[in-house]
Amino acid sequence: MKVPIRARYDKVMINVNKFFINEKIFDFPVDPFSVIKNNKWGLITYSELAEIHQIDISDIIRAYQSEDGYTIYDGTNYTIAYNDTISSSGRIRFTLMHEIGHIYMNHLVDFEATILKRSTLTESKYRILENEVNSFARNVLAPAIIVRNLQLNKHNDLVRYFRISSSAASFRLRALKLDFQYLFTPFIKLQLNQFKDFIYNKINSKQCLNCNHSFVHEIANFCPVCGQDQLIRGEGDNKMIYSGCEVDEYGRAKICPRCENEQLENGDYCKICGVYTINKCGSYEWYNNEISWECGTILDGNARFCTTCGHKSTFFESGLLDSWDVEKREREEEEHHRLMANDGVPF
Ligand SMILES: [Zn+2]
Ligand SMILES: [Zn+2]
Ligand SMILES: [Zn+2]
Ligand SMILES: [Zn+2]
Repeated sequence: MKVPIRARYDKVMINVNKFFINEKIFDFPVDPFSVIKNNKWGLITYSELAEIHQIDISDIIRAYQSEDGYTIYDGTNYTIAYNDTISSSGRIRFTLMHEIGHIYMNHLVDFEATILKRSTLTESKYRILENEVNSFARNVLAPAIIVRNLQLNKHNDLVRYFRISSSAASFRLRALKLDFQYLFTPFIKLQLNQFKDFIYNKINSKQCLNCNHSFVHEIANFCPVCGQDQLIRGEGDNKMIYSGCEVDEYGRAKICPRCENEQLENGDYCKICGVYTINKCGSYEWYNNEISWECGTILDGNARFCTTCGHKSTFFESGLLDSWDVEKREREEEEHHRLMANDGVPF
């Protein structure tokens, strides 16, 4: 087969969607290492190659004409080599996805090559194939649909959401218009469906400015951990997730948070220790000798406060959850001890 005269971006998009389905990708960041492992492709670092052949990394870069990586096809399987001495993990992830792109686009088979080198193809032919796989890499690592759907237009958001390098993020933003020319309705539908949980979580993520708790909720007015109403959209750098008990979607504990009894199927109270096993808003009043839950909001297993009205939760009132400042202090002390142990001078 002859190298095409221009990059086949339509074919790239078909392979991007194939990739998401075959590799069962539902979340970001995408991990190229596990994709390589699952496909049983070979993987070797420039450092390992340098060690085996007793040469310098610069010799490998010169011999293979690539600073970042290359792929070899032996007629049955692929082996990807990459420069592990590059300090940016985002750049390494892009390189690996670029090489996976060569495999998904069938370049080495269709153009009968064991390796694609600058010197074995004319510069323009080489460029065409490289453009195809760079498109593959950016659309797999940070799909145009997701970028547009979440209205990500800041560089830093892309770096954080998809763990790509800052230059890959600029490149991603610049190529949006180009990529949308090849994104047809079925592809858009497929990707929006494939990543619906990721999109939901990102749209509804909130962070508390008081205790730093980060959580996903559509309509919370109050922080479930500290009960304050200083919530912001999105997630900051110093986010924390406070601990709690495991509950189902109805706030019902799976095992008793007090005595660890595992038989909680009957009733709302633990038959062993008597604790109330549903975490919800604790505001109630007695009405005709029966409890009437005023607010009734069902809460997550780590909620100390009601997200609707700010009242204490049933678990917090029963003493099953630590106050947020206690947990925060404990974690800081643990972290301090861990750092001290690492930096400690041995006797
Ligand atoms: Zn390449
Ligand atoms: Zn809070
Ligand atoms: Zn119990
Ligand atoms: Zn409430």
